[in-house]
Amino acid sequence: MKKIGIIGAGQLGQMLGFAGRKMGLDFVFLDPSDDPPAAVIGPVLKYPFDSEQGLAELANSTDIITYEFENVPVAAIERISPAIDVYPPAKALQYAQDRMAEKKLFESLEIPVPGFRPIDSPEQLRQAASEIGLPIVLKTRRLGYDGKGQVVVREAAEIDAACATLGGKDLIAEQWVPFEREISAIGARSVSGEIVHYPLTGNVHDNGILHESRAPADAAEFEGTAQSYLTALLEHLDYVGVLTLELFVTGNGLLANEFAPRVHNSGHWTIEGANTSQFENHLRAILDLRLGDVGMRGAAGMLNLIGTIPDNPEAIAAASGSIHDYGKTPRSGRKLGHITVVADSAADRDAKLRRLAKLLPC
Ligand code: AMP
Repeated sequence: MKKIGIIGAGQLGQMLGFAGRKMGLDFVFLDPSDDPPAAVIGPVLKYPFDSEQGLAELANSTDIITYEFENVPVAAIERISPAIDVYPPAKALQYAQDRMAEKKLFESLEIPVPGFRPIDSPEQLRQAASEIGLPIVLKTRRLGYDGKGQVVVREAAEIDAACATLGGKDLIAEQWVPFEREISAIGARSVSGEIVHYPLTGNVHDNGILHESRAPADAAEFEGTAQSYLTALLEHLDYVGVLTLELFVTGNGLLANEFAPRVHNSGHWTIEGANTSQFENHLRAILDLRLGDVGMRGAAGMLNLIGTIPDNPEAIAAASGSIHDYGKTPRSGRKLGHITVVADSAADRDAKLRRLAKLLPC
């Protein structure tokens, strides 16, 4: 039985584990936190993500290594990768960890992006504001997630305070995009180079955190373009695993926001809504198995459970919602679980989502 090592034992690791168990796989995780969600799947080596000893133990006890979040130190991956296969490749992590490098990569692949500038001082931000215009979204280049590490600058008077809030340097200024919708393109590429694309997913964020997803997205006209961008990234990075590209839909077409070198929250609907989930396809890709069929089982929707887990699971099940509770301690703003629905039509799916939303605490 193959053993998969996963760096990170959060909910993504847990869902990879649930999918992998059905494939006869065993798992070992590396995570410094107490009682992480994936502990229900297999042993967790309790070390920091860059611990030499922890990584060596993980490599010694598994056949192949993957990771569930993009802030794994690249040096740690490079240290173990000569001895054991680690997917996705470190190159993908490098780009995903630095918003400047990521934007330049998009440009080099002719994937359109909002205007951007590197920022290391308020003077540079003033210059950027005069060149690309206000509003501007000022973001930390590294370690931002779920809207953390970013500030919208609407007026010149806010420039100094915005820079100070984010630490003054290693920032990126991005043109604020008045998007119509946000979508994600999720695909997988195997060791042998086989590629599959899930139908586009439409996403709604609140305060930078994903709240709901619907697939297929109401964006059929962009399917081909988004898939060509995703394919360009997968091939350029010699990528292995699931990759998610987040895009803004604007009046002038698509603009890329960022990519995640991993399974993604906007793809959770694939567990019930697709013939093969993103989690199974990530594992198939890294094990170089034929990728599974990404066809849909109906119109799918997903609601994130943020901050609280509902105490009326029977009512949610009665409303056709499949509840996934990650087993995390509730905390404000924390992703604790999600609910999926699958329906015969988009209208039916939307009606189910509306009914479910009324049953949720917030
Ligand atoms: P990010 O951490 O870059 O994925 O940003 C989180 C969310 O903030 C996105 O999903 C958008 O809703 C919003 N956002 C980020 N960048 C921009 C931008 N340049 N223009 C408008 N909204 C943005």
